[in-house]
Amino acid sequence: MDKEFHYDIVIVGAGPAGSSAAFSSASKGIKVALLEKEDSVAETVRTSGVTWIQNIKEYKIPEDCYNPIKNYSFCSPNNEVTISDTVARAAVLDVRKTYRWLAQQAENQGADIFVKTNVKDVIKNQEGDIVGIVANTPEGNVSFFGKIIIDASGFGSIVSKSMGFVTQWEKFGAGAEYEVKAENVDPQTWWLMVGQKYSPAGYAWIFPISNEIVRIGVGVGKPDSSVDPTERLKQLMDSKEGPLADWGKSHLLNFIMDSFQMMVCQEKQYTIT
Ligand SMILES: Cc1cc2nc3c(=O)[nH]c(=O)nc-3n(C[C@H](O)[C@H](O)[C@H](O)COP(=O)(O)OP(=O)(O)OC[C@H]3O[C@@H](n4cnc5c(N)ncnc54)[C@H](O)[C@@H]3O)c2cc1C
Repeated sequence: MDKEFHYDIVIVGAGPAGSSAAFSSASKGIKVALLEKEDSVAETVRTSGVTWIQNIKEYKIPEDCYNPIKNYSFCSPNNEVTISDTVARAAVLDVRKTYRWLAQQAENQGADIFVKTNVKDVIKNQEGDIVGIVANTPEGNVSFFGKIIIDASGFGSIVSKSMGFVTQWEKFGAGAEYEVKAENVDPQTWWLMVGQKYSPAGYAWIFPISNEIVRIGVGVGKPDSSVDPTERLKQLMDSKEGPLADWGKSHLLNFIMDSFQMMVCQEKQYTIT
């Protein structure tokens, strides 16, 4: 017989949604299991990490996990504008560090984290309601039963799909991102770049994470455009157009994301209340 566990809440996916849900519920004394298919939390990065300082503060995320931003610059091929604030309201996260910190907080509050645990299917009762999930683990199939099951599996949406709540995403974004070291980085200013030459159905961005390192990326809306974001990013890096022209000497440090996909919620598929 498959091994089985019983929890109050079973959360599928240890991304920011799953880890913060685990942290919040475990803090209230609820018995939580957080299941992640990868070998460790935040093994794959799926975001540029831009978020709001108000939300960062709500979770008491340490200051060494993010770079504050107070100037918001936008450019198109022929125009640019910067909106400056007196205080920083946005931030670029050190994504891996933040997500691991969140998961660690959840664990400190009593949540059980299971990595290498790939959820494959749901378990339903006779009424058709979900009561658990089945996951592949290094020890074979394991069943996790819960009073509440949270699907935080991101683009894969394994639970929602198994329950028939969503089918396949009709619209989604695909993005690619590099981490680059450059001579002239303004650590308080981000750039959003719009127009065909940056992205035919989306935008490109430059998000600083320190006074010498930025994350530069291209996002493309699918299926509206067939452009490969990785190819467009390479072209942008080669041409050094727009704000890249002011970088001075620069070199690539890491390839963070390669045509990573994200969901775009559509009213007919998903309603968030
Ligand atoms: C190029 C790009 C840039 C982006 N930049 C930003 C940004 O700057 N700011 C922002 O807010 N958002 C950004 N996003 C969107 C970002 O990806 C989402 O906001 C965020 O990742 C959603 O978090 P999540 O926890 O819901 O899902 P995810 O981060 O996708 O996490 C899902 C987790 O579930 C796990 N999982 C999946 N399937 C299973 C399974 N079957 N069993 C067990 N575990 C499973 C995954 O391994 C993963 O750890 C960006 C997306 C892309 C593609």
